[in-house]
Amino acid sequence: MKSIKIKNTSKQIPVGKIVCVGRNYAEHARELGNEVPEKPVVFLKPSSAVIFSEESIIYPTFSQEMHHETELVLLIGKKIKDASKEEAENSILGYGLGLDMTLRDIQNELKKKGHPWTIAKCFDTSAVVSDFILKENYKLTLEEEISLTVNNQVRQKEKLNLMLFKPAEIVQYISSLMTLEEGDLIFTGTPKGVSKVEKGDQLKAKISDILELSCKVI
Ligand code: MG
Repeated sequence: MKSIKIKNTSKQIPVGKIVCVGRNYAEHARELGNEVPEKPVVFLKPSSAVIFSEESIIYPTFSQEMHHETELVLLIGKKIKDASKEEAENSILGYGLGLDMTLRDIQNELKKKGHPWTIAKCFDTSAVVSDFILKENYKLTLEEEISLTVNNQVRQKEKLNLMLFKPAEIVQYISSLMTLEEGDLIFTGTPKGVSKVEKGDQLKAKISDILELSCKVI
């Protein structure tokens, strides 16, 4: 089983389920031709999809168009269900940085057919995560900037405060749909600038100076 690493501690937490929010930045929804949602768009990834910084993203043989989606990731620290906004906020143990790797060609076909996005989102190495920082050690203001470079060229760069649904709102909403437990990860959606990666590309992502990750596509 894979475990989340917490910065500056020896603490490790086994990865639970991974709940992802789509279309959480208006300009990203528009760049893919989608409407801005009234409620968060929610989908899942399996824990088997997780890899960590310095590991490689493996290009699946069944796609020709893999995209990067750089996202703030929330680490849940306790079991909650039908949480109040305050309980939702208190359930967030820490913050990480993630890449929600997405097979856009497959996803577009699935969307047309009205099928689930599973094949486009759940492949091995599709959930890259950094080490996490504990909320007790860092107060997230959403003034932080999330960014991604591919081969040292900036592809995504945006303030976190452009998220349509903020962390506690997202956690509260998901907890109204399913129980959240310690070790669950929540990918909070990507800003504009998603684009195709190629084998050999080097991806580096950051949230201001607090979180970073780096990996190569093979
Ligand atoms: Mg995403």
